[in-house]
This record gives sequence, structure tokens and C-alpha cells, in this order.
Amino acid sequence: MNIHTQLEDTLENIKKASNLFLGYPISKDFDYTPLFEFLKYPINNVGDPFIKSTYKVQTHDMEREVIEFFADLFRANPEDYWGYITNGGSESNLYGLYIARELYPKAMVYYSESTHYSVKKNIHLLNIPGIVIRSQENSEIDYEDLQNTLQYNRHKPAIILSNFGTTMTEAKDDISKIKGILRKLAIQDHYIHCDGALSGTYGAFLNEKIPFDMADGADSISISGHKFIGSPIPSGVVITKRSLRDRVSKGVSYIGSLDTTITGSRNGHSVLFLWYAIKNMGVDGLKARYNHSLEIAEYCKTKLNAIGINAWSNEGAITVVMPKTSDVIKNKWQLATEGDVTHLICMPNVSKQQINAFIEDLIKEKEAQIALV
Ligand SMILES: *Cc1c(COP(=O)(O)O)cnc(C)c1O
Repeated sequence: MNIHTQLEDTLENIKKASNLFLGYPISKDFDYTPLFEFLKYPINNVGDPFIKSTYKVQTHDMEREVIEFFADLFRANPEDYWGYITNGGSESNLYGLYIARELYPKAMVYYSESTHYSVKKNIHLLNIPGIVIRSQENSEIDYEDLQNTLQYNRHKPAIILSNFGTTMTEAKDDISKIKGILRKLAIQDHYIHCDGALSGTYGAFLNEKIPFDMADGADSISISGHKFIGSPIPSGVVITKRSLRDRVSKGVSYIGSLDTTITGSRNGHSVLFLWYAIKNMGVDGLKARYNHSLEIAEYCKTKLNAIGINAWSNEGAITVVMPKTSDVIKNKWQLATEGDVTHLICMPNVSKQQINAFIEDLIKEKEAQIALV
């Protein structure tokens, strides 16, 4: 196949696959065409975004603006915050756990069984001993099991991986309850990392707030940039405290900066996308996106219940959970399925029309089954 046909075929396939999907937390409603010119330059954000670097083909100024935006949204101390744009939520989680381990080399990590697979891998990479905590039925951490397990290991520092939006059911752990347990057991050496890959982005807008941010007690928070905001290139954000990152910084004269990030060379283009998105949306736009998603999720749940499907969602979640669908439906709508449940995520680009078309498919399938009997 020649280069052009292969490119055209690939583009065609991507367009088709992108049209129909409801199962993954990926926003598709972005337009970054004003940024095309930037693809002509080798933008590289190597080094710490808060330190002047010798490499000038970078977007550090914008990176700092994005970090400031999220630090503010996550109620970080304005005098003591830091962060950088990563390659995705997984790297952001790795960073949080890395700082935690540097702070408490003898700590244990506690995470619920509903935790994202990146966390288990990161713990393995960092060689930190970890304990899996039971989840409640809705996938939120089981606080009683957490307390009992912590009590048993209370002579050791504790790193708690708190989920704000689990992958399958978008369950959110309550950091104030976790803090309460640590206080009760008098475990002073502790670190809380909040994995907010999808939901962290709109956590501040929930009608019934669930404690998750820096003011609530998180030491670091990670989100994915390509999930709720949307980006043609995967990206993530990690927010932590400057005082914590100071413990892992080492100067590197070759780049004239501090080596405080996981990777050396860093994507300067994805910073542009995130910056452009938050500049256009602002806090109000982000909030409107969340409210739209929430409305669609409620609509979807009601429609599913109306045709006899037992769909449900966690409080404030834009993820609708239902019993496992057929493979035909799953493949057509690219629905993530695990065990006996399937979920559908009402990202900002999902419309009522799309939900209607999905419901139509379910009704048709049901009718066909009845006809067969
Ligand atoms: C998606 C997700 C991640 C990983 O994020 P990537 O950006 O894909 O690396 C981590 N945690 C949770 C809960 C997620 O849903």
C-alpha cells in the first residue's frame, strides 16, 4: 500500500470508530485548529516548569498557567503548590506515589480493590509494599476494612491511594473519612494521593461535595487531560506541594534546570492544548460541561430503567452502570465491560440523540429475542 492510501484508510477508520463510542471517558468535542502552526516546531518542555531552562523552544509559561488553574480549583495553598503536565493520569499517579515513597521510604500503600491498574504497576515499579482494601458494593473504599488494616500496621507510615472516580463505576472515596481514621489511630506519618483521572477535573462542581482536594487533606492529585477536557494527544496533570517536590529535586546543568519530573523530554504541545482549552472554557465553562454530562447521565439512566434495565450511578457521577450487555451492543458502542457490568460514560460530547439511538438498539435486540422464542 502506498503512503497516501494507508494514511487515508487509517483516517477513515479513526473517523468511523470515533463516531460511535460511549464506553470510555474521552471527550471528543474539541477544536484545536488554531494551534496547527505549532506542529512545525520541536516544542519540548524538558525540566521543571517553574525554573528557567536553557532550552527555549518550550511552553513553560503556559504550563505554569495550567498548573495554577488546577491548583486553585483543588484549593492548594497558594504559597505552597507545584505540579507539571505529564503524559497521562498513570504518570501523575506514579509521581504522587514517588514523592510519597521519598518522604516515607518505609511506608505501606493502601488502595482499594477498585483502584486503576496503573496504581498496582506503579507500586511494583517503586517497590513499595501494598495492601488491597475491600471495596463497598458501589466500589467506594470500605472504611472499616481500611481502619482495621491500618490499625494492624500502625507502627508503619501510611500512603493512602484515594480514588476520586473509579474506572468502572466512578465511585469516590471521602478523604475526610480517611483523615479521620488516620487521626483516630494517631498515624502521623501519612501521605494521601488522590487519583482523580476523570472526576478530579469536575470534583469542585459536585452538588453534594465529596472531600477530595488539597484543602481536604490530599498531598497530591492526579487527573488526565484527555479525559474530561479532551486532547488529540494523551496528557495528565499532577498537583502537589512545592515543599514536597523540593525533596526529590536534583539540579542538572546540561538542561540548566531541575530534574523534578519523571521523564526528561516532555510534551510541550499537549500543554498548549490544555492551556487553550482552559482559557476558552474557564471555570464556568468547565462547570457547564459537567452539568451537561450529569443531565445526560440522568436522562440515560431514566431511559434504561424505563425499558426494564437496572441501570444505576454513583452520586454526582456521569458514568451509568448496567448489567453486562450483549457483545453486539458492546462492540458497536465500544462499551467497557468488566465481570457482569457494563458502563457508559456521558462525556460532554454525548447528546440525548446518541442515548436515544443506543436505547433503540437495546429495544430492537430485545424484540428480536422475543420473536425467536
Ligand atoms: C484513566 C484512569 C487512569 C489512567 O489515566 P491515563 O491518562 O490513561 O494514564 C488512572 N486512574 C483512573 C481511575 C482512570 O480512570
